[in-house]
Amino acid sequence: MDTMKPSDVRVRIAPSPTGDPHVGTAYVALFNYAFARRAGGAFILRIEDTDQTRSSRESEEAILRSLRWLGLSWDEGPDVGGPHGPYRQSERAAIYREHAALLVERGEAYRCFCTPARLDELRTQQRLAKKDFGYDGRCRALAPADAAARAAAGEPHVIRLKMPRGGETVLHDGLRGNVVLPNDQSDDQVLLKSDGLPTYHLANVVDDHLMQVSHVIRAEEWIPSTPKHLRLYEAFGWQPPRFLHLPLLRNNDSNKSKISKRRNPVSLDYYRDAGILPEAMLNFLALMGWSFGEDREKFTLEEMVARFELSSSTMSLSGPVFDLEKLAWLNSLYLKELDDGALADRLLAWGFTRERLVALAPLVRERIRKLDEFIPLVEYVFSGDLDFASLGVELCPKKRTPAEAADALEGAVEELDALRAWSPATLEPLLRAYGEKIGWSGKELFMSVRAAVTGRKASPPLFDTMVVCGRERCRRRLRLAVAHLRKLASATPPGGGK
Ligand code: GLU
Repeated sequence: MDTMKPSDVRVRIAPSPTGDPHVGTAYVALFNYAFARRAGGAFILRIEDTDQTRSSRESEEAILRSLRWLGLSWDEGPDVGGPHGPYRQSERAAIYREHAALLVERGEAYRCFCTPARLDELRTQQRLAKKDFGYDGRCRALAPADAAARAAAGEPHVIRLKMPRGGETVLHDGLRGNVVLPNDQSDDQVLLKSDGLPTYHLANVVDDHLMQVSHVIRAEEWIPSTPKHLRLYEAFGWQPPRFLHLPLLRNNDSNKSKISKRRNPVSLDYYRDAGILPEAMLNFLALMGWSFGEDREKFTLEEMVARFELSSSTMSLSGPVFDLEKLAWLNSLYLKELDDGALADRLLAWGFTRERLVALAPLVRERIRKLDEFIPLVEYVFSGDLDFASLGVELCPKKRTPAEAADALEGAVEELDALRAWSPATLEPLLRAYGEKIGWSGKELFMSVRAAVTGRKASPPLFDTMVVCGRERCRRRLRLAVAHLRKLASATPPGGGK
């Protein structure tokens, strides 16, 4: 399929910095990286932070740090620069505004003055009529000169793309062949919001073009957006890149749902803290849909790059399963082949740095009588998943049912998910306020959280303990505790609670 010179290959990942560094980002990054390196092309990192309310610099930094941990390096990006910068969309607003204006001038897009109130009303009507929501195109009929005059007079508006009415769009996907998408599923997409900032669709297409991206290799969930993107390329008169949509990672459950934090840890930090080696993580992600051949499951990044090909014959699209057991098995192969010294070094760097031990000192000082009591005192700070069924620790306060305790801890972990600065000063007010919100006393809530996080009834001060256990370990154990409580709840006959 490729008539392109290898050096013309330019691929990118375009993460939105809105939370934890996600395993899905690493997966897509790995495939783009291998594709670029194999072809001798460029791998670009672009930050899509146009959603100002959800994006954060902390999240961006965490993404960059995690990709570096994995050893995936990029040739152009916000930190390393490059000829097509800036590589952070929030710094490119003027570029998007110019491009949106160009489309209005050409009659490919139009100004829409519909107010939020009108759109709400439309949404209500469509809901009552059991129709999917879509903008009805009222402002498409405005005379361009009138619309320009209203805009010049300062009337708030957005800019929308004229999508074809009816018919279908055919996406030539490099992995899937022709994917036919009916046009009536896409309404006239907003390109520029009333605050002058772009939506994902406009910024993504403009940047892929200006950054000379040759292949868009991204997750399957973007397929429904692609007709809008193809329409944008056409409206600008640009040649679209080639599209290859990778399969979504799935949970290891019977309905093979899309990987989610409720089922599996999705933060790369979790895997780092659990002691998964970066090379094992990459190897595991490489197996998600791609196969090395020769029945080989263990291979290095270099070996992968050397034979990487992305096509329907090398990829299976049937939903690769993100199976933690398989990851642990693969990791064990990597650990086994380390010599004793190398294994000791990995252990030191993972959990026995001086800094870590200093952080643990205040927690044991009051209770330790001999140094040999240290490990038993802090065992839960180093271990992984807790098996609540066999530990027998009470997760549920006396006056609450397991279902209530499950709800309470689930709500707590949702709140904690959003908390990046993990310290007693942030944890305590958050959990106290949360307890009040759900009508639990501090004592009840802290007892449940302590039992979930440590597997013990008593521990040193809870918030200090949560800090040394680490954000990832705490969140994982809270979710496991929720799952355990739900199991207890389903085994308890209705009304048969405590
Ligand atoms: N910002 C999108 C994301 O977060 C990028 C999707 C794409 O690669 O086009 O995944």
